[in-house]
Amino acid sequence: MTEQFRQLLSTRRMNDLTTRSTAQISRSGSPGPTDYRRSLHSGSAQQQQQQQQPPSYSSLRNIPLVPTPPSDPKSLRFRNKLLSLSDVPRRWENPGLLDEALRAVPLEQIYNEAEEESQILRAEAESLGGGKKAMWGYQDCVVRALLRWFKRSFFTYVNNPPCSKCMSPSIAIGMAAPIPDEQARGANQVELYQCINEVCKHYERFPRYNDAFVLLQERRGRVGEWTNCFSMLCRAVGSKVRWVWNSEDHVWTEVYSVHRKRWIHVDVCEEVWDKPLLYTLGWGRKLAYCIAFSAEGAMDVTRRYVRNPQTHAADRNAAPESVVLHIMDEIRAIRRGKMTKQDKFRLEGEDMRENRELRHYVIHAIASEIIKLKPADIVSGRIPQVTRSDADAQKAAESRQKQEWVRSRAQGRGNPNQHHQHDQGHR
Ligand SMILES: [Zn+2]
Repeated sequence: MTEQFRQLLSTRRMNDLTTRSTAQISRSGSPGPTDYRRSLHSGSAQQQQQQQQPPSYSSLRNIPLVPTPPSDPKSLRFRNKLLSLSDVPRRWENPGLLDEALRAVPLEQIYNEAEEESQILRAEAESLGGGKKAMWGYQDCVVRALLRWFKRSFFTYVNNPPCSKCMSPSIAIGMAAPIPDEQARGANQVELYQCINEVCKHYERFPRYNDAFVLLQERRGRVGEWTNCFSMLCRAVGSKVRWVWNSEDHVWTEVYSVHRKRWIHVDVCEEVWDKPLLYTLGWGRKLAYCIAFSAEGAMDVTRRYVRNPQTHAADRNAAPESVVLHIMDEIRAIRRGKMTKQDKFRLEGEDMRENRELRHYVIHAIASEIIKLKPADIVSGRIPQVTRSDADAQKAAESRQKQEWVRSRAQGRGNPNQHHQHDQGHR
């Protein structure tokens, strides 16, 4: 029975992956759908052309900002960092290894649990009447079962690895060079520990592997290893998956729920499903960037995790917002370079839907701030300013600056009235 599951999954995933393997990543691929915007803003000839013309309606409509290529050293460093991070989920896209990975998973148990849970959820929905939809679909329940198993029975969290000789605790004594075997399995860094038992004093090595398939055998690590290995297994059971990098040194998973038509936050270390406010409201952290990477692109998903920028946004100063937009576009264009038109179109639709969802969170947060105002304050005119320090506010500010700049140039030259009319006609 388990073998049947594997076969079924394998076939389904192969179909999925063959459409993608024709879409193997290439920088020299034909221009993606987002490229037309970049082509407007790169290349000096084009740039000059752009500067000499009044802003077109379409460039203004591209709210909140026109993506701008990174040019200063800091922005370029950020771009290179994100580009290299975007490689993580691509390393899972290996059908043979994904099949092999499923051998480590008690599939029958997971599918039974998922079946049971989804039946309960369906029954619950039916009992509510009115054609209510179940809370989660079957595939969501598969990942939920995988999450429980991974956390409770499979992976171990390691701070200081215990001594393998006498099981005493150990203390960190620094870093060591990887030995050939560790290097061959992809560990570039090895932490060194020593047993605290005076008689033993054994040295314990903790190689930091970042190959999800190697981690299947190691079955231990910190947040990075947990998230890497678990996300790969979500992929192995057939889900669309993202690896979310956070600039405050955390990573987690997002899984696409076909049933709910949205990305679901999953933190495997915490065994948490769909609690995107865990880090801000739960842990009281401030977050600057949360960037989701998948084999199909990248998305700035910070707004899903930081709902109230006033209390939980950290400064986003790695690059101007217009540059961050450009980097996201660039990664998407690279990943989708060789996809079919239909696939690109479908993914753009998903991006747009997600952008609407993310915008909605911010609008909701601002609205709830306004609701908190006291009537007395409004009457007396003592309205506390609803300040926004989030990416959207910054984008809006950058966009205003840019528009003012373009307008002042237009006014300072040729026939200003003509440009005015041009602008007014479209606002
Ligand atoms: Zn020992």
